[in-house]
Amino acid sequence: MSADCIFCKIVRGEIPSKKVYEDEEIFAFHDINPLAQVHFMIVPKQHIPSLAEADLSHQAVLGRILAKAGELARAQGATDGFRTLINTGRVGQQEVYHLHVHILGGPDPLGPMLVRKK
Ligand code: AMP
Ligand code: ZN
Repeated sequence: MSADCIFCKIVRGEIPSKKVYEDEEIFAFHDINPLAQVHFMIVPKQHIPSLAEADLSHQAVLGRILAKAGELARAQGATDGFRTLINTGRVGQQEVYHLHVHILGGPDPLGPMLVRKK
């Protein structure tokens, strides 16, 4: 846990969130500024700054996040597919340095993954 990390504070209940799911290792909550009809994030309870800092010691919790994604997405109404997104570091334009997997879903299609530069 990191004392001043906003997502650690959400996991600890010190900052309110719209919780989607919680178990002993992971926590899921709605994005405060949604970019799709369904938009929530799944995070490890353990503070891992980004995917760039993840290693094999984190494989169980990272697998757990992906293994839960489909069930949680369906429960939120993304019944016909969704997109998973992990922004990492400066180039990935990560804003919050606590690893999180965005789950973005419809029912409307999401559009292109990245806009191609001409
Ligand atoms: P990024 O680090 O770029 O992958 O994005 C961080 C995401 O966290 C953004 O989509 C924000 O809208 C979201 N966010 C920031 N603060 C909160 C909060 N207190 N509760 C829920 N979502 C948040
Ligand atoms: Zn944290």
